[in-house]
Amino acid sequence: MSSSSSAEAAPETSSAAPSLSATLPKVGDSFACTRSLRLGRERALLSQGRTLVSDFRKGGSHAKLFRCSGAVIVKGQQSTGGCQVLIRANKRKDKHWYITETQYEHSSCAGGKKPSVAALAKEGEVVVNANREITAGGLVKQLRGAHGVELTPHTANRVKRSVVGVSEEAQNEGYQRLQSSLDQLAEASPGTVVHCEGSGVQQVLCMDFAHMKGEWNGTIGAMTTKSSDNTIVHLATCIVAKENGNAYRYLIDNALKNPTVAAFLKKPSTTIITDKHKGSESAVPDGLDEAEYLTCAEHMLKNCGAVGPGGRMHFYQAARAPDKATCEFHLNKIKDLNTAAYEKVASASREKWAVYATRGNVVRDQVNSNMAESLNHALGPDVLPAPFPPAL
Ligand SMILES: [Zn+2]
Repeated sequence: MSSSSSAEAAPETSSAAPSLSATLPKVGDSFACTRSLRLGRERALLSQGRTLVSDFRKGGSHAKLFRCSGAVIVKGQQSTGGCQVLIRANKRKDKHWYITETQYEHSSCAGGKKPSVAALAKEGEVVVNANREITAGGLVKQLRGAHGVELTPHTANRVKRSVVGVSEEAQNEGYQRLQSSLDQLAEASPGTVVHCEGSGVQQVLCMDFAHMKGEWNGTIGAMTTKSSDNTIVHLATCIVAKENGNAYRYLIDNALKNPTVAAFLKKPSTTIITDKHKGSESAVPDGLDEAEYLTCAEHMLKNCGAVGPGGRMHFYQAARAPDKATCEFHLNKIKDLNTAAYEKVASASREKWAVYATRGNVVRDQVNSNMAESLNHALGPDVLPAPFPPAL
């Protein structure tokens, strides 16, 4: 890197440096949600070249125990070897996590575990913004110099990507590497047919409503999609009294106000997956008639009646089947289990749920709208500050 950019970066990184050593949680400290607790404990020991990891043998949804990465935690064993540094946290009635015990004296501590991407995101962002051309190795060096922390080059690369995004060249290089690996595979085992084709990112949108958790009154609606690196991208959310046609229209109309989202939603190559009940069916073609829309496999399964885990497996096989015959084969397996359920599923039009009959936009693991459900789950009481007043 050039000397001018390191001169620019210096004041910022050194001003951020003390935060690493001043983050030891004390008894009584509180964290508003599980995510902030996670960040807090991951960062707590960074300046000591350690991190706090979850002791999976203890705790649950309301009590957690974290130990120094220098501890030796063995499944099935009560005692803990190595370092005895630990913190405990309990979730109280106000839904916040409180630190209830701390022990920060390292003993026979071997260290271990490098910081995660999230733990150093803040410091990494400062460095990358000062020099967006920085290499992963350069970032490792800078963070070591400024904060004394040791990142793996792989993590450093991910920290950088989270700031600058993935470049088109990097993407193309990835495809080329995939192609050459496939070629090698074909050479190594004659007769193998390989084919690598870039068809662009498959665009799947999930739309769903779920009842809000806790004392909240109402339903939360979400539109989510998946990025090319498989993370859930959240496009729009709304809170309404009831899940019905108007609620879906409200969500869609407001999402369409954003030009980028509108362009995405109106493409023929976009697939929208909903649970196809309580108004979603009528809402989708209204605002988004270019896009393909599918029914959520999970909801179909729920609504068709009991088929058990075996039937569930066959239903998913049917939904993902590459051709009609395979689809029929798995549907017939459901028939053996529950004739009524079979009739419900088999009578639903195939182009709404069976991948072979669709436009082929969708990847095979995208046959349900669970992404939206996950978001509803994530936006639980941890995140929401206070309940709505009861509906009038
Ligand atoms: Zn330790």
